[in-house]
Amino acid sequence: MFHDIEYRVEGAVALILHDRPEARNAESKRLLDEMDSALAKAVADPDVRAIIIGGNGPHFSAGHDLKEAQRERQNFTVEERWAYEERRYFDYALRIWDCPKPTIARVQGACVAGGFMVANMCDLLVASDDAFFADPVVRTLSAAAVEVLVHPWVMGLRSAKEFLFTGERMTAEQAHAIGMVNRVVARETLEDETMALAQKIAETPPFALRLVKRSLNRSFDAQGFRTALSAHFDLHQLSHVSDEFARNRGSGLAEAIERAKG
Ligand code: ZN
Repeated sequence: MFHDIEYRVEGAVALILHDRPEARNAESKRLLDEMDSALAKAVADPDVRAIIIGGNGPHFSAGHDLKEAQRERQNFTVEERWAYEERRYFDYALRIWDCPKPTIARVQGACVAGGFMVANMCDLLVASDDAFFADPVVRTLSAAAVEVLVHPWVMGLRSAKEFLFTGERMTAEQAHAIGMVNRVVARETLEDETMALAQKIAETPPFALRLVKRSLNRSFDAQGFRTALSAHFDLHQLSHVSDEFARNRGSGLAEAIERAKG
């Protein structure tokens, strides 16, 4: 029923896994649509009490599928791009954030740009020791980061600035040190450790857990989380139509695609 993701339920835990390992789990239109459907399925299933979002193969996700974007959306009008990105990037991501059930990102290998955005929408993040995080699109594409600027909220302001201004990779250990990652585990034990954590959380009384998640997320809303994300989405759209973006898009995309192959 799904092509670009794998969905399965083990006991009380649903797994939603990027499943395009041959493309470093690049997030195609279909992958994002399927992930959103799978999330709704997990929410609707009364037996599911915790959700893991991960990726099959060596990487979590290298980000949005730029090859597909170049092929199918390069000539989008401003209005078309806005609609596409608002639905698939912004609304889908926030649905993970707002999910009434607890979510855990299970991250190995690359967790880049659009993939970084999805992983950081989850409540908890477990990373293997080979995981790395990056959002290089300011430098490579002249885009104002990704569509959902969750970075300062999960990394702290200074780390977010360094991360975005330099485009450098952050290791799992570094991400753990700044509090973005809950646990770093050996690559061989990532699946088991994440499942054990999900099962433990699945035993927590679900209504109380749902309420405390709401309250915790509202503590961010009280600080302007949603307003700031919405404002960034608008500026991100401006960055897509800047002269700088138009100048760098060709070489930046080619470079990003080349990197994705390697
Ligand atoms: Zn965009």
